[in-house]
Amino acid sequence: MTRTLITGGLVVCPGGAVRADLLVSDGRIAGLADPPAGWEADERINADGLVVLPGAIDGHTHFMLLDPELGEPDPDEFEGFTNGGRGAAAGGVTTCVEMPQGFPPATNGLIHRRKRELAERDAIVDFALWGGVRGGQTAQEVFEQIDAGAAGFKALMCNSDPTFAGVDDAQLLATLEVLRETPLMLGLHAESDALLQNGLRRMAQAGRRDPLAHAESRPPMIEIEAVNRAVFFAEQTGGWVHIIHLSTPEAAELIGRARSRGVRATCETCPQYLVLDLDDLARLGPYARCAPAIRDRGRVERMWEYVADGTIDAITSDHCGFTVESKERGRADIFAAPNGLTGIQTLLPLVVSEGRRRGLSWERIAELTATGPARLWQLAPRKGAIRLGADADLVLLDPERVWTVHPGELLHTHRWTPYEGRQLRGRVVRTLVRGVTVYRDDAPERILVEPGFGRFVPAQATATAATVG
Ligand SMILES: [Zn+2]
Repeated sequence: MTRTLITGGLVVCPGGAVRADLLVSDGRIAGLADPPAGWEADERINADGLVVLPGAIDGHTHFMLLDPELGEPDPDEFEGFTNGGRGAAAGGVTTCVEMPQGFPPATNGLIHRRKRELAERDAIVDFALWGGVRGGQTAQEVFEQIDAGAAGFKALMCNSDPTFAGVDDAQLLATLEVLRETPLMLGLHAESDALLQNGLRRMAQAGRRDPLAHAESRPPMIEIEAVNRAVFFAEQTGGWVHIIHLSTPEAAELIGRARSRGVRATCETCPQYLVLDLDDLARLGPYARCAPAIRDRGRVERMWEYVADGTIDAITSDHCGFTVESKERGRADIFAAPNGLTGIQTLLPLVVSEGRRRGLSWERIAELTATGPARLWQLAPRKGAIRLGADADLVLLDPERVWTVHPGELLHTHRWTPYEGRQLRGRVVRTLVRGVTVYRDDAPERILVEPGFGRFVPAQATATAATVG
């Protein structure tokens, strides 16, 4: 039995932050003592002056696993669980919830299980897997993925991903009726397909190819309308809709109001909608092209009100490992660049730096990055909080350290970031997964575990009795 004692840190628990010693035994949280209890341990970690947070759970990654027997890789986008996991560990992310896209996309039980098996060979940090619902898919394929341990289901309301057809209203409604009897969400990329196609046509007719044309092709109304419709279907069916990468305060307001009348509606946003604005899109061009689009400064500021008041349940990265070459294609024509940003390594540091500056408590930061995500993707009580018996997934963070984001520090495959040059306060100095140090800022090699260390975490609610349908 390996015992690790972390002494002197400010430990962020669900009930509040306390300066205490934290005991880890066999990979789990085994004790919290203030004043120190004089525990014996094999390893002691001095956390004086550091904040000890629950490891972040990134509910939205695109590592785009490749199954060489079943799929063809896209040369523009491949991250993989090893390099993606290195970026995760360096950013304080201890569990990733991987999206169903991949080569091939996971949309049935067979591919889901195969994806798990392949990811288990490569993973650096722990992971869960989203199930996928593409246009035209059957309910049977949904049930198979529940049996395989899916953490929730993802669908697009628009056709903006060539590998992943959107669902129409009929399928959206039918899927919610299927999932209503389960504890799992339907996570929606909420953009109106009709309004999006119209917006793209409008820009093409006007001959617009500049960076801001991207934002004008998919204005806020595209998201607001789709969220309104998703919430309506949730209310009618009793199913659970979760809006992924929410980008507008108007849509957050719709979700908050729906929830107050009992509708099962939740949402996540991403740093790009809390930090970047249209000036960044104009400046960075293809390196800020993502969907939904980056918003104006006024909306960015208003999003923080919904982060602070609890309407927004989680902050995720939507990390996409696009090559520099693919992004460069968008220099002269923004629409030629793929949609998606890197971001797993900067997720927690950005939330800490911006959140603290805006007055968020450590508890709220832990809620947004760990405890909330664990609840959304059914990973609690094993993951998501510093509580007795939970996995000892921990981040030691220096809250005062000021540093500048630099591509040379990035550990994921394609080392570009829209946050290059940004000064942040608060730096991850050490990350532990199940009590094992996976990342140390001051170690020459930085990543201290081999591929295959990370484990699959099935949805806890359905892990023992997946008996739906
Ligand atoms: Zn995504």
